[in-house]
Amino acid sequence: MDKFTYVAMPMRVVFGAGRAAELAAEVERLGAKRPLLISTPGRAAMVRGVAKNLDIAGVFDQAVMHTPAAVVEAAREKARAVGADCCVAIGGGSTIGFGKAIALSSSLPVIAVPTTYSGSEMTTIWGISEAGGKKVGRDPKVLPKVVIYDPELTLDLPAATAAASGMNAIAHCAEALYAHDGNPLNNVVAEEGIRALAAALPRIVKNPREMGARSEALYGAWLAGLSISTTGNAIHHKLCHVLGGFGLPHAQTHSIVLPHALRYNADAAPEAMRRIARALGTQTAPTGMWELEKRLGIPMKLADIGMKKDDLERAAKIAVQTPYPNPRKVEYQPVLELLQNAYEGRRP
Ligand code: NAD
Repeated sequence: MDKFTYVAMPMRVVFGAGRAAELAAEVERLGAKRPLLISTPGRAAMVRGVAKNLDIAGVFDQAVMHTPAAVVEAAREKARAVGADCCVAIGGGSTIGFGKAIALSSSLPVIAVPTTYSGSEMTTIWGISEAGGKKVGRDPKVLPKVVIYDPELTLDLPAATAAASGMNAIAHCAEALYAHDGNPLNNVVAEEGIRALAAALPRIVKNPREMGARSEALYGAWLAGLSISTTGNAIHHKLCHVLGGFGLPHAQTHSIVLPHALRYNADAAPEAMRRIARALGTQTAPTGMWELEKRLGIPMKLADIGMKKDDLERAAKIAVQTPYPNPRKVEYQPVLELLQNAYEGRRP
């Protein structure tokens, strides 16, 4: 790489089993006194337990998937009503999305405590859905000031959810490796992220409460989030965003599409493929990725997660209308073939 731009994101990362206990100290360090605690309804009890030593101003435990505008408004109103001076979001990408949405309009600092591998905690990307569409943007205001990664909090993440979420993280790394705005430091980070996640996920599926594997996966997820924090997305993320519009689940869609997106780009991004294969310990990136997913026992076909065959052509058309920059030209016929292969779960 003879030409690149590197941008560092200012944030503090606290990593390790049991370190969620340092939450109160981190809030104090920020100089905040009135934290708003954010969670989904399902994780509310667990989250209150994590925050038991924290003097909280209020709780918003109604976070849901896709950050719908109406629910975001309720969260913002809650923050105003309790006079919050920071947000503490404990949960997956959906929950962290609410902390970011509050920060977008208020500039309140966010402390994120991720319990999945989505990587949202490391990025300036926000998304709010309204009237069937999702508004997405980048704004430094929404980047969490502090991220606490505590693998103990992930022990109950079901193995199948962990596997799909981990593949979502691997997809971040893979696309960062062939991003048009990549850089050499990011390449090292992304390759190590794939290595850590690919080593940890089969161990989690075998023994979901193995702390070493949970810790390694969360470490990989941090690197994956870091690797997308400064680089753009390519065809894989574009297709997943399009398929999300057809109602398909986020993490599973990422895991199914990834090997096929890699096959699409294989000849156009040989150095990225070499790094991905090396991180997986396999001969080639697309088949190595597909085989890893097979070992994890997660869905391998878009047909199995709610995609309709009749919608494939429409999805391909939408994807090629406003493509993201990609190593290989994004064209209708090969994109349709990619989607058909992912629909049927073929070995790439
Ligand atoms: P999620 O937050 O919806 O969580 C998935 C499921 O896991 C939920 O049912 C949740 O309750 C459960 N869960 C979470 N942690 C758990 C735990 N420790 N134990 C047991 N169950 C647990 O899904 P996600 O995959 O983490 O995030 C997806 C969302 O994040 C999408 O909306 C996506 O757009 C967004 N995202 C944003 C960015 C960004 O940079 N802005 C990056 C990646 C993903």
